[in-house]
Amino acid sequence: MAENYDVVVVGGGNAALCAALSAREHGASVLLLERAPEEKRGGNSAFTGGGFRMVHNGAETVRSVVPDLSEGEIANTDFGEYTAEQYLDDLGRVTQYYCDPDLAETVVLNSTDTVQWLHGRGVRFVPRFGRYAFKHEGKFKFFGGTVVEATGGGRGLVEAEYKAAVKFGVVIRYGVRATGLLRGPSGICGVRVETKGVEEQIHANAVVIAAGGFEANREWRTRYLGAGWEMAKVRGTRYNTGDGIRMALDAGAQPYGQWSGCHSVSWERYAPDFGDLDRPITASRNGYPFSLMINANGERFVDEGADFRNYTYAKYGRIVLEQPGSFAWHVFDSQVDHLLHDEYRSKGTTKVQANTLEELVAKMEDVHAPKFLQTVREFNASVKRDVSFNPNIKDGKCTEGLAINKSNWANPIEKAPFSAYAVTCGITFTFGGLKIAPTTQVLDIEDQPLPGLYAAGELVGGLFYFNYPGSSGLMAGAVFGRIAGREAALQSLSNTKQAG
Ligand SMILES: Cc1cc2nc3c(=O)[nH]c(=O)nc-3n(C[C@H](O)[C@H](O)[C@H](O)COP(=O)(O)OP(=O)(O)OC[C@H]3O[C@@H](n4cnc5c(N)ncnc54)[C@H](O)[C@@H]3O)c2cc1C
Repeated sequence: MAENYDVVVVGGGNAALCAALSAREHGASVLLLERAPEEKRGGNSAFTGGGFRMVHNGAETVRSVVPDLSEGEIANTDFGEYTAEQYLDDLGRVTQYYCDPDLAETVVLNSTDTVQWLHGRGVRFVPRFGRYAFKHEGKFKFFGGTVVEATGGGRGLVEAEYKAAVKFGVVIRYGVRATGLLRGPSGICGVRVETKGVEEQIHANAVVIAAGGFEANREWRTRYLGAGWEMAKVRGTRYNTGDGIRMALDAGAQPYGQWSGCHSVSWERYAPDFGDLDRPITASRNGYPFSLMINANGERFVDEGADFRNYTYAKYGRIVLEQPGSFAWHVFDSQVDHLLHDEYRSKGTTKVQANTLEELVAKMEDVHAPKFLQTVREFNASVKRDVSFNPNIKDGKCTEGLAINKSNWANPIEKAPFSAYAVTCGITFTFGGLKIAPTTQVLDIEDQPLPGLYAAGELVGGLFYFNYPGSSGLMAGAVFGRIAGREAALQSLSNTKQAG
């Protein structure tokens, strides 16, 4: 007999789990379909650091989701505040104002409440001291807008969400790949799935698709992001191959957002092709604002210190990919060693070190040595030495007169030992996807809702273009997932009532 549910959710990451939980809360019977086997569940969400970018007013908001925040921690921490206006400004600025204003507003205005909602469902949070706060004069000072992360990072987040889903009665099937949408007289009425090569149909009054982007699909990457993208390493799951997007397009959905854009970062040059939850690696290289980024020609090619890492890291992967051979080196001197996080010391890091720049470049595989030495000489000569270095603020310690100046944190590279780290491009997720209304209803080419179809997460287009403010992916997925679950449940239950 064919299975029948009020709501079917396609996907097994943060957006899907929020949708499933919310649909259950609104009284629907819910089936969640995860393509991955159980031990690899959780999509890209499981690979994240678990950071959520939300509107906050400092310690008071943080304490609402971290109830055991101690008085000592509060006294020793400047959380700052992050207003809705700042969040909207950041989304606008980093996306060059292409970001859909209605979608942006929905994420921003629901952000705090949604993190609190997750907390109420058993997700535990901690302050994000690691990467988003620097200790300055004995006090932690947050910068860049993100103050909390899920306990245990992405894995901790996803485990807590699965636990809640089971507790609230969501039915979960693993290793089941959705391949198409079923259409009936009143709209989408279920999904076609494949399990170990066997096809079946599952009926539902409403479907939420939250099956991620197409970053793990080499062919689509090359087709939509452009030539060379087949070379990128996938930072997260191998299961996000664009199925959800294709299924919806086949049913008449409107493509939306920046199909040629993606989130991509500096990533260990010799990392494996895909992420693997069983063999986690620390392949991010986020200390580049304090580095010189050098390509095979021995040249700089980007303003490493244009902004805080949080506002540049997601677009610099593409620039690395575009360099000859699709690689680069992050070069540091010993003055900033203490600012490099453990990722630069982890197993599998391609690192070289030397006491002179000549020795260093001899060890930097595939780099034009004379040009590198000239680049460093010219850089050092152009640094404004009268401005002091401060990693906590955009310190304005810049270079002058170079073809590509460095705007902040421009320390001369002059104090041995010197070190260099080889990086390539790691793709995180794709920006292009489906057009949705703020209610998460998937829209057709005439901006009309496709009845019965809702979407959330990475496969929603229109939110991110060119770049991305760190930690807004989980936030957007949670906000739209929660709305999608509610809307799908309400629609499904009203259909049932009418039929009855
Ligand atoms: C290494 C890394 C670090 C990151 N760090 C952060 C961070 O700290 N903060 C942040 O906000 N964002 C971060 N991101 C981005 C973040 O992962 C995404 O924005 C977010 O997780 C997307 O959630 P999602 O639920 O849409 O997709 P996913 O979590 O990727 O879930 C998609 C799900 O769909 C399933 N699926 C795919 N196809 C099918 C199919 N045909 N049938 C059934 N199921 C299917 C997949 O198996 C997967 O479970 C990071 C990403 C990576 C890779």
